[in-house]
Amino acid sequence: MNFFWRSNLAILALVLVVLAAGDLYSWRAVGRQAQQAGFEELAALARLVRSHPSDLDDSTALHHWAAEIATIGAQAALVRSDGQILADSVPASNVSVRDPEIQQALSNGEGRSIRHSNTLDRDVLYYAVSYSPTPSPSSPASLGTSRALVLRLALPLAEVDQQFSAMRRPVWTAFLILFASAIAISLLDLRSTSRRIRSLKEFGARMVLGDFRPVHAAPAGDSLDELARALNETAARLNASISMLTDERNRSSAILGSMIEGVAVISGDERIIFSNRAFSRILGLDDVRDIEGHPLLEVTRQSDLLAAIKMALNGQEQVSSEIVVGTVRPRSFAVTAAPVQASAHKGAVLVLHEITDLRRLERVRQDFVANVSHEFRTPLTAIQGFAETLLAGALEDPGNRRRFVEIIREHATRLARLTEDLLKLSRIEAGQLKLEFRPVSVTELIESCVETAQLKAVPRRLALHVRLPNELPTVRGDANSLQEVLQNLLDNALQYTPAGGKIEVSAVCSDGRVVVTVADTGIGIPQVEQERIFERFYRVDAARSREAGGTGLGLSIARHIVAAHGGRLWVESAVGEGSRFHFSIPVTP
Ligand code: ADP
Repeated sequence: MNFFWRSNLAILALVLVVLAAGDLYSWRAVGRQAQQAGFEELAALARLVRSHPSDLDDSTALHHWAAEIATIGAQAALVRSDGQILADSVPASNVSVRDPEIQQALSNGEGRSIRHSNTLDRDVLYYAVSYSPTPSPSSPASLGTSRALVLRLALPLAEVDQQFSAMRRPVWTAFLILFASAIAISLLDLRSTSRRIRSLKEFGARMVLGDFRPVHAAPAGDSLDELARALNETAARLNASISMLTDERNRSSAILGSMIEGVAVISGDERIIFSNRAFSRILGLDDVRDIEGHPLLEVTRQSDLLAAIKMALNGQEQVSSEIVVGTVRPRSFAVTAAPVQASAHKGAVLVLHEITDLRRLERVRQDFVANVSHEFRTPLTAIQGFAETLLAGALEDPGNRRRFVEIIREHATRLARLTEDLLKLSRIEAGQLKLEFRPVSVTELIESCVETAQLKAVPRRLALHVRLPNELPTVRGDANSLQEVLQNLLDNALQYTPAGGKIEVSAVCSDGRVVVTVADTGIGIPQVEQERIFERFYRVDAARSREAGGTGLGLSIARHIVAAHGGRLWVESAVGEGSRFHFSIPVTP
């Protein structure tokens, strides 16, 4: 049952109750009034007729008298106090001296009662009055037998009912007309009201689904208008807040999604509430969908990470730790966990930050220090040893002292070379290498270096050749540095090529660069070590290199110099067949 019918039925019931109460009340009032009027009518009639008849012994006259009264409309009976009925307008009526109105009349002079008459089948008003008979001049004999007489008149109430029905009909009709028009009016009003309520209801349902368009209704100037206005305002505000929150969320998720750092939010019961792509990628969970909602323990077994989260969840601020993931190519990550308190929930934020490069650099630095110490120790030990030998008496030994001093000088030279190379390297790495770029003739560069190298090649029985095209453009470079590079490559070729081998220096120009190649038929370099020889102190055969006075820094310095010229230094080699070192330098613009 909808609101419309409920309210209408309530009105109907209310009106019916009021009507019925009014009806009952007026029926009672009208009834009482009719009784009153009836009794008064009967009393007046009684006063009028009580002196007649005068002759109580003439029963014919008495009955005649009674019948005459009855023509007015009231039944009349005359009863003597000893119970004898002297006259009655209705012969079969069982009037008796014991009737209440007669009893009342005998004791008080007047009596009234309303009883249902079975004969007439309706309520009847009874009125009795007692009086002493006046002695009849025609029959003095009856004097002695004079007793109190009671005149009883009866009036059926039929007319009262009819009267009332006649009065009630227009009242009810008026009420019904009123009620019908009220219903019709409220029907019209409620129809439109319920239509508006329905549209508000639909609006509510739309809002639940996220549709915040305002509700449109013709204003009727009532409280529903205010409700609609308030709802529209609420919807507009909700819409604004939701779109603001959505924007904010999109922005944060875009930021978090594009971050290199892995970020995750962990709940108090150690479940993942949120994680970004980087987090999954770092923990190798790229193929696992939807890790959100899962316990962290299910996702990773990194005990340091789990411990950090536990500490943060226990309220410890900024817990830092480190983990290594991956076995083939291990990567190091700094773990930072911090507690967060979002409303009633407590949790922790986890950030994974890659520090693989940092760790590698640290290792390189440590290795470098170890290498440098190692390189310095050998010559220093030798110098110290031979100096002590000389002091211990060898100075007096003319056969050996000169040789010992020469060894000391050799090691000192080596130390000097090492120091010089290290200084150069550190200057280059610190970006302090001063290069003066000028147009440099590659032909001249090669020829001057080969001239020096030739002097070393001859005693080693090595053939040194140069092969150059007729025309070579100049390159943009620092002549001294480029000479150092080429010299180093030539020294290595001479060093690592056995006697009888061949060394060839050539140059070609292509793509705006001149590529210089130093090729030898020497011992070659194993494939796996070809990239590593450019690292500091890296040597394929350390003993051999050291014996030849190498520091293991030459190629490293050369590569830096070439790179500073905007060129490249690389090697092709096969063990036992020889090596080809190339470097490219851009030509002068
Ligand atoms: P070094 O002072 O030891 O020569 P470099 O940096 O010049 O230091 O060279 C590094 C290592 O590369 C050498 O120790 C050697 O093992 C290898 N190497 C360099 N040039 C050649 C070459 N032409 N043939 C074979 N091995 C070479």
